[in-house]
Amino acid sequence: MIQFSENISLKEYNTFGLEAKARYFVSVSDYDALKSVVKSFDPGENRHLIIGGGSNLLFTKDFDGWILHSDIKGIEVTEETDEYVFVKAGSGENWSDFVDYTVEQGWGGLENLSLIPGTVGAAPVQNIGAYGLEQKEVFVHLEACNLITGKICHFNKLECDFGYRNSIFKGAEKGKWFVLNVTYRLEKHPRLRLDYKPLLELFSNIPKEKITVKAVSNAVKSIRRSKLPEPKELGNAGSFFKNPVILPGIFSLLQQQFPEMPFYALENGLVKIPAGWLIEQAGWKGKRMGHAGVHDRQALVIVNYGGATGKEILALAEAVQKEVLRKFNIALEPEVLIL
Ligand SMILES: Cc1cc2nc3c(=O)[nH]c(=O)nc-3n(C[C@H](O)[C@H](O)[C@H](O)COP(=O)(O)OP(=O)(O)OC[C@H]3O[C@@H](n4cnc5c(N)ncnc54)[C@H](O)[C@@H]3O)c2cc1C
Repeated sequence: MIQFSENISLKEYNTFGLEAKARYFVSVSDYDALKSVVKSFDPGENRHLIIGGGSNLLFTKDFDGWILHSDIKGIEVTEETDEYVFVKAGSGENWSDFVDYTVEQGWGGLENLSLIPGTVGAAPVQNIGAYGLEQKEVFVHLEACNLITGKICHFNKLECDFGYRNSIFKGAEKGKWFVLNVTYRLEKHPRLRLDYKPLLELFSNIPKEKITVKAVSNAVKSIRRSKLPEPKELGNAGSFFKNPVILPGIFSLLQQQFPEMPFYALENGLVKIPAGWLIEQAGWKGKRMGHAGVHDRQALVIVNYGGATGKEILALAEAVQKEVLRKFNIALEPEVLIL
C-alpha cells in the first residue's frame, strides 16, 4: 500500500518558494510504487500534477488534487560504441548533478545545459535549452508510465514531438504520462557547441582541441551565476516568458519602428525576439510590485522578494504582458506553468 500525505505544504517543492498546499502528495521512488498510485486514483476524475523540482511552476492557489513527485534515482550506461556512450538516468535525478557526472567522465553533449535547475524527468517534457543547445539534440528515448493503464511505453525523439520548450507531454498527451527515465547519447570525442555568442567570445583565443567539456561547463556555470538569481536566495522560476517567435513580415514592420531590436532568424523563416529586451524596453526591468519584481539583471526573470503570493507574481506578469503588448503588439506567452 502506497503512502501519501494530505494537505502538505509545497513551499519546498517550488523554486518561487511560494506557500501553497496540496490536497494529496505522493513521492514515488520506483515503477512498482507508481503502479500502486495509479490504482488509487483516476486521472480522468482526479485533478493531478506530476512534479520534479518545481522550478517551472507558479502556484497561485492551493492544489486541490494529487501531486505525484518523482524520486526515481539511478544513472547507468546502457550501451557503448567507439564514438558514443548511451546513458540512462532516473527521472528524479537532479539535472545539474547528472550533467556534472557526464562532464566528469569527459563525455560531450550536455555541458551547455549545466546548472539548469530541476530533474531529469522534466528535461524532455520541457525540452530544456540554453547556450545554443536543446536537450533534444542528444536525447535518444524515454520510458514513461501511462497513468490510466499503469503500462510502460517507450517514446523516441520523433514521438516526443519536441519544440521550443515544448513536447507532446505538454500538448496532446498532457498529464497522461509519468516519465520514469531518460536516455541520452553522449560523445566520447566531444563535439563542442560554442556558437552561442558569450561562449564564442570566451573561447575565441583558445585552439578548439585544447578546450574540454569541463571548461565549457565551468564557463556556462559562471555566466549563469553572474546573470541569474539563485532560487534559494531569491525565489524564481528562471525565464518567466518564452521568447516570442513572429512572422518575418511583422518583424520588418517592427524593425522600421525599433531598428535596434535584437533578433534571431530561425531556420523555418520565422524570427525570434528576446523577451527580456522587450520587457526592458517596456520599462519593467528592476521594477517591483509589492513583494514581487522583475529582476534587475535579467528582465526575463520574475522574482519573489520574500513573502510574495502566487497571485501577486501573476499580477506582475500580467502587467508586464500588457505593457509589452501595448508597446510592441507582441503577446508574451508564459514559459512557467501557472496553476
Ligand atoms: C534559476 C532558473 C534557471 C532556469 N534556467 C533554464 C534554462 O536555462 N533553460 C531551460 O530550459 N529552463 C530553465 N529553467 C526552468 C526549469 O529549470 C526547467 O523547466 C526544468 O526542466 C524544470 O524541472 P523540474 O524538475 O523542476 O520540473 P517541474 O517544474 O517540477 O515541472 C515542469 C513540467 O514538467 C512536468 N514534469 C516534471 N517531472 C515529470 C515527470 N517525471 N514526468 C512527466 N512530467 C513531468 C510537470 O508536470 C510540468 O509540466 C530555469 C529555472 C530556474 C529556477
